[in-house]
Amino acid sequence: MNQLLSAIIDLIFPPCCPICKHLGEISSSQRLCPQCQGDIKLIISPLCTICGLPFTANEGEDHLCGNCLTEKRYFTVARAVGVYQGTLQKAIPMFKYRMNTPLTKTLGDILITNCEKLLNPYAYDLLIPVPLHRSRLRERGFNQALILAREVENKIHLPLDYLNLQRIRDTQPQTSLKEKERKKNVRGAFRLREERKVKDKRILLVDDVYTTGATVNECSRVLKRAGTKRVDVLTLARAV
Ligand SMILES: [Zn+2]
Ligand SMILES: [Zn+2]
Repeated sequence: MNQLLSAIIDLIFPPCCPICKHLGEISSSQRLCPQCQGDIKLIISPLCTICGLPFTANEGEDHLCGNCLTEKRYFTVARAVGVYQGTLQKAIPMFKYRMNTPLTKTLGDILITNCEKLLNPYAYDLLIPVPLHRSRLRERGFNQALILAREVENKIHLPLDYLNLQRIRDTQPQTSLKEKERKKNVRGAFRLREERKVKDKRILLVDDVYTTGATVNECSRVLKRAGTKRVDVLTLARAV
């Protein structure tokens, strides 16, 4: 009955690709047109064992990247589903700046169908989305990291806490900054309301894009200082 109903709805309102607005053939799982679907570059090995940076060579073992050899990472591993280019680079800004339900569903599906290949989502006690500052949340109306974390929560039924970790400083958008400035920009930008709630916990921190890792590293630093056992990071995309 449901299938019949959705076939009738598709006839009246032909499905449209939420990214390029192409009408017609849409893959049923992620509701994207074949071209947008094909333009998602999933991240696979070999990659950096810590930050998940994919290496250009198609073969070889995972190993540390230059940045992870020299910089302190407070998270244990960070993994991203796809490279921030093509479809994901078009879709994430669309998703971030206005609420778009079909696109949100699509991106959520891409995240959860691929995350188990990257890490074991059942190995955590708690999900925490990277928070937005109050003023940005007011401006935008929603936190894109929380929406992605909810998709993971729905799939694996992990407790989600989006109130404890707070962004107390409205930092400049990281996109306009160089790597060194990014680190300084987020230093001291986060705090925990109740440290005891993260003590001895294994936490999966969720965000939309990993760029230099400065933001998630600072969140992880705050969590580790409060006695968190382990922090891993899951993002939808990663800049390379
Ligand atoms: Zn499309
Ligand atoms: Zn690395």
